[in-house]
Amino acid sequence: MNSINYDACPECDLLLRPALPEIGEKAHCPRCGFLLSKPRKQSVERTFALSIAGFILFFPANLLPMVGITIMGNVNTGILLSGVIALFNDGMVAVAIVVFLASIFFPLVYLTLSMLISGHLYFNQPNRYLIGWMRWMHHLDEWVMLEVYMLGIIVACVKLMALAPLKFGGGLFAFIALIIITTMLTGGLDTRLFWQRIEKLSKKNSYEN
Ligand SMILES: [Zn+2]
Repeated sequence: MNSINYDACPECDLLLRPALPEIGEKAHCPRCGFLLSKPRKQSVERTFALSIAGFILFFPANLLPMVGITIMGNVNTGILLSGVIALFNDGMVAVAIVVFLASIFFPLVYLTLSMLISGHLYFNQPNRYLIGWMRWMHHLDEWVMLEVYMLGIIVACVKLMALAPLKFGGGLFAFIALIIITTMLTGGLDTRLFWQRIEKLSKKNSYEN
């Protein structure tokens, strides 16, 4: 028997000799480019804590007013969704949909998935959906683009400032914190460790059944 263990790429099933990058390095599948390994310190604990924080922040970021503007005594405030609705009403339906998905829907799904996955791994709870969740989270990674929306907010604020004084609301600060949290979350996720732990858990599960 060959003593070298081979791992299959989770995305394209290519057999690979396990790459062992150092902390801070990355290993990709040579065929499909799937991120195989990105060692990080205490990745499960970190991901679990950050996804809970992100999930909690998601609600004030979406529900509290972001900016307020006073025009002739009337105070107008806008929440995150107001931007999407404004785009929609301006006839930019496609842009409105993309902004909604990238800044509201996908981040919420991503945070939920990472909380579910890291929570199961943290408490060593097997679940038959773990592999599916992990694949979905990997695909969503490229679609969570809170920064893009932030750029839009900055541009809108600069324009509005010329018209009237702006008041920044709690929603904006929560949104900025959410961007920082999700950036730390995606940057600190050790995919290889997660796949290994999922595999271990599913083995444990099949022994018990
Ligand atoms: Zn591959």
